[in-house]
Amino acid sequence: MIYLGKKVMSIAIVGDGVRCFKCGRQAAVRVRYARMNLCRDHFAEYVEMRVARVAERHNMFDGIRKLIIALSGGKDSTSLAHIIMRHRDAFRIKEIYGLHLDLGIDGFSEESSHVVRKVCRELNLKCFVLPLRDLIGYSLPELIRISRRPPCSLCGMLKRYLINVVSVELDADAVALGHHMDDLLVFALKDFLVQGNFRMIKLSPVTLGIKGVMAAKLRILHETCEDDIILYANIRGIEYVRSPCPYKYVDNFKAVIREMLDKLEASSPGFKISLMRRLIKVADVKAEGEVIRCKYCGMPSSSGTCSFCKFTERSLGKPLGYDVRSRVRDLIRSLS
Ligand SMILES: [Zn+2]
Ligand SMILES: [Zn+2]
Repeated sequence: MIYLGKKVMSIAIVGDGVRCFKCGRQAAVRVRYARMNLCRDHFAEYVEMRVARVAERHNMFDGIRKLIIALSGGKDSTSLAHIIMRHRDAFRIKEIYGLHLDLGIDGFSEESSHVVRKVCRELNLKCFVLPLRDLIGYSLPELIRISRRPPCSLCGMLKRYLINVVSVELDADAVALGHHMDDLLVFALKDFLVQGNFRMIKLSPVTLGIKGVMAAKLRILHETCEDDIILYANIRGIEYVRSPCPYKYVDNFKAVIREMLDKLEASSPGFKISLMRRLIKVADVKAEGEVIRCKYCGMPSSSGTCSFCKFTERSLGKPLGYDVRSRVRDLIRSLS
């Protein structure tokens, strides 16, 4: 039985007698955007092949010897880890590490760390699980209470900072992120509609790094839709965290954009992929803009103090970037 979890737009279950385009056996799904019927195995191979082709088209792995895969434990990042490990030799990556931040959310974080460890073990992937409380002295729920900042924006800022710190301390060339096409499109369109931001920088398949300051970011799933990932994870039997983050909330604006994109995809299959390709042509790809090093911790900032040092100074009374960097260094050493 194929579990798709929600109403799907880009793929549809097919009935008896429909044949797989590749092998002629009974097909499982119709990939609407590719106008192809595929059996389970060939669908999974198709997803892997498309991801590899996108990576190749954007020269994503050129010169990448040491790679970090940011793992939340959700279906996107765990599927991404599986796909990268399958293509590891073709991509010619020498060292690959999994990285997970344990946010200290009761129940949810234990489950997430457990899944990440298990997935990494299965993939024979060296894994760094960093507990936020060991690094800063507080869990995410405690930081939310102290700072009264919206959970998702605080969590996003902490993750971006700490993932970047690890990538710099490990001297990694790039960090692979699990964001898929649907999330990227919704994020970029909201940013455009609400902020008037044309740069759409987080949409670009590659954000270049700066040696010693920040690693490159690779959005390898940027042409892979959520439906494909759900079915892929299901076919390959990939474990992932099923329960939603307790801080997750419905952003109505994003929900409307998502619905609109889904409707357009349903009426003209392939719409999202061509929209993505058009948008990244106008996106301000590659560069993060001018980078000034934070005066406290040396990590990138826009104004001389990074958002992590600003946040910890305001909420905890002291900019903690420098201390956190040395703690990350110690943790990496003890886990290596
Ligand atoms: Zn087949
Ligand atoms: Zn700083």
